[in-house]
Amino acid sequence: MTQDASTCPFCGEQEELSLFEIWEDGNFQLSTCCVWLLEHISAEIDADPGWGRDLLRHLGAEDLTGHRLRRVSDGQGNGPVLDWQLRVRDVSFPVARAFIGKHHEHVGAPHAWRFGASIWNGPALMGVVTVGNPVAPALNGRGIVEVNRLCVRRDLDPMLRWNCCSMLYGHAAAEAERRRFSRIITYTRVDEDGTSLRAAGWVCEGPAGGRGWHSHRRARSNRNAWIMKQRWSRTLHPKPLAGPCLPPPVAPGWLDPPGAGASALFP
Ligand SMILES: [Zn+2]
Repeated sequence: MTQDASTCPFCGEQEELSLFEIWEDGNFQLSTCCVWLLEHISAEIDADPGWGRDLLRHLGAEDLTGHRLRRVSDGQGNGPVLDWQLRVRDVSFPVARAFIGKHHEHVGAPHAWRFGASIWNGPALMGVVTVGNPVAPALNGRGIVEVNRLCVRRDLDPMLRWNCCSMLYGHAAAEAERRRFSRIITYTRVDEDGTSLRAAGWVCEGPAGGRGWHSHRRARSNRNAWIMKQRWSRTLHPKPLAGPCLPPPVAPGWLDPPGAGASALFP
């Protein structure tokens, strides 16, 4: 996709500017008539990311990939990077486990879950969340679920993970509510920032004991084992079940036939 033919002010030839390639990590390559035009365009994108996004749209980045641009990141000095609109998608338990095993900094993958989700920046899987039963026995069986892992990869441009955590926390709460749970909780280490939880409408309940961060079976190091933690929660409001009110289920043998008294059950 080439811009209108005109003379390049740098090389004097017919100006050429097109999108040559886009990679999964957001890096891309432009094709130009000369290196001077390429340097000029790169500097302009750095100086004005909004203009850069419009240019990349004009060059067909969205049509080629099927993803919507969020912005063009400056790439922190490593060249501009395409940053796409985030999308939350389903994920299988094995894929979530493998992702956590590869990318989580201080805990291993969970052994069980109720549900989970993944978040994508364009073609790149950026993070996963897994939700299960509360680890604390006292909280079990009370309509509560716990976000037990939230893991976002840190090997790509940091701008690509902007908002990933709060979207995953928000999605986990919405999905728990849809599944008729009344509360969702999670824990953060006291040295972790709760910004993304607050952004997703969660409330900090304060310090939560000295329970080890690692379960004894999964301990990989004792480095974080006794760091104090904060508990966070969000109260959910599951909708009443739609449709007519049904009588509570009763085993057929216990239904009195019309006109029969209690004696029908005890002939
Ligand atoms: Zn040129």
